[in-house]
Amino acid sequence: MSNDCTFCKIIAGEIPSTKVFEDELVTAFRDINPVAPTHILIIPNKHIASINDLSSVDEQLVGHMLTSAKALAAQEGIAESGYRLIINTGTDGGQVVFHLHLHLIGGQRMRHPMG
Ligand code: 5GP
Ligand code: ZN
Repeated sequence: MSNDCTFCKIIAGEIPSTKVFEDELVTAFRDINPVAPTHILIIPNKHIASINDLSSVDEQLVGHMLTSAKALAAQEGIAESGYRLIINTGTDGGQVVFHLHLHLIGGQRMRHPMG
């Protein structure tokens, strides 16, 4: 837990959110400013600021973030229509919240090209 981290506070229930899944490794909740009908953030329960802060011990955790995204896509009914998974990293990557998060976005055709 990082004291000044919005997403740590969401995990702790100190900031309200619409949680859609949680287990011992990850928490998933709806983005407060969705860019598509489905926009879920999947985050590790332990504070990791960004991809730059991962170490080899986190490999199972990161894999679990992806399999959780797959399960949530099915739960949201967008597995067949498709979706996009995004991890923004650092300033040029557009990262605003420095607690690692995987965006699961779908329910409409993506309009924006990469980059
Ligand atoms: P980033 O740009 O860092 O990849 O994405 C951060 C995301 O977190 C944004 O899509 C933003 O809407 C979302 N977000 C920021 N603060 C909150 C919050 O307090 N609650 C929820 N549910 N989402 C948030
Ligand atoms: Zn955090």
